Amino acid sequence: MDDFRADTRAWLDANCPPGARRPGQVPWGSSRIELDPDTRLWLERMAERGWTVPTWPREYGGAELTRGEYTVLIEELKRIGARTPLTGRGVNYIGPTILELGTDDQKQRWLPGIARGEGGWAMGYSEPGAGSDLASLSLRAVRQGDHYVLNGRKIWTSDAMESDYIFVLARTDPDLPKHQGISLILVDMDQPGVQVRPIRLISGASPFNETLFEDAVASASDVIGGVNRGWTAGKRLLQFERSTHAGINISGSQGGRASESRLPEQVKRRVPLRDGRIADPVLRARLIRHEQNVHAQRLTQRRTIEELQARAPGFASSAVKLTGALNQQEADELLVSALGTRGVGWEGDGYTADEIEATRDWLRQKSLTIAGGTKEVQLNIVAKRVLGLPD
Ligand SMILES: Cc1cc2nc3c(=O)[nH]c(=O)nc-3n(C[C@H](O)[C@H](O)[C@H](O)COP(=O)(O)OP(=O)(O)OC[C@H]3O[C@@H](n4cnc5c(N)ncnc54)[C@H](O)[C@@H]3O)c2cc1C
Repeated sequence: MDDFRADTRAWLDANCPPGARRPGQVPWGSSRIELDPDTRLWLERMAERGWTVPTWPREYGGAELTRGEYTVLIEELKRIGARTPLTGRGVNYIGPTILELGTDDQKQRWLPGIARGEGGWAMGYSEPGAGSDLASLSLRAVRQGDHYVLNGRKIWTSDAMESDYIFVLARTDPDLPKHQGISLILVDMDQPGVQVRPIRLISGASPFNETLFEDAVASASDVIGGVNRGWTAGKRLLQFERSTHAGINISGSQGGRASESRLPEQVKRRVPLRDGRIADPVLRARLIRHEQNVHAQRLTQRRTIEELQARAPGFASSAVKLTGALNQQEADELLVSALGTRGVGWEGDGYTADEIEATRDWLRQKSLTIAGGTKEVQLNIVAKRVLGLPD
């Protein structure tokens, strides 16, 4: 392992461009977003070495790193402050799903491009009448010769306006019980049958969309996990998504949410101190409890990765996703409390950029217990599948 560390360190020192050694743009594959030269160079070099998806097989663009080697790579990247070279639904959600459930032909056709970041992916699961009760989805896919024709509507499709492809859960057999008759299908978004309508938020931003399918076509060879078996494939993909949110998906993510806390320093800069400590004992106690939670989360992430041989943990991903989200929301609450009246600034000259960011983060992160399955849905999964409680 010492040799691997030394080689990795030398290679990173020689190949990681200065512009990729600080916070900044992390590509997710979208061909519609221009990358700055250092970011592009970093992506190309890492992809060539198989390090955009370090644990994937070589033939699909990975480097076949063991878990131990992967950990060393992450440590060495952190040591020089290097950014993740590639992220998103390609390497983190649909890629691992194809790797696990795809046919050889599908793996050959899709995975190397995903590993090189050639195309950004959107996720077409939710519909106006199917959120938590996802199996009620009605987007229809009808087989015609060697392709499927899709009609229907998806909602809350994050980043769809900048995506090249979308993976959708579609109803391929309406006569079967609702959890059956669903298929997971890959669709090229660059076609007249796919229309994206941005949903404008109160902030003025439009990260979400409604995505309409009107006689859109998809190749019949792009059904992942088998026709009418999309419920199983789709749930597996959700575990990859939740593992990514939770920071326990070793194939693509690097540490995850709430794994590093800058909160004590941020709070200390904002509130009265006595003898170098936060003067308010209640705030101090809340902060200490939060730091304990963050530490426990970090240990749980590590233990979950260690315990499981699979590329993504199963139902445990729901528990770790949820606790990570709750920790993040607690951190945002604490910072806003520490800011007092300065913590309610939305815009305008009366507030600093930091204060406005704190308010906006606090509000935005409320979505962490909705996206990827709500808090109640995760608690249901933990109760039934992890703790084995009766239905
Ligand atoms: C930031 C963000 C990004 C998203 N990105 C995408 C995306 O890219 N693609 C995509 O397909 N979707 C996306 N979504 C949608 C997300 O998956 C849904 O919002 C989520 O699954 C909840 O569905 P819903 O909004 O229809 O709420 P509902 O399912 O209507 O839930 C409403 C409330 O009822 C509760 N509830 C529902 N059923 C139960 C139950 N059985 N037991 C207890 N309580 C229950 C829920 O917990 C919730 O509080 C995104 C959402 C957010 C917030």
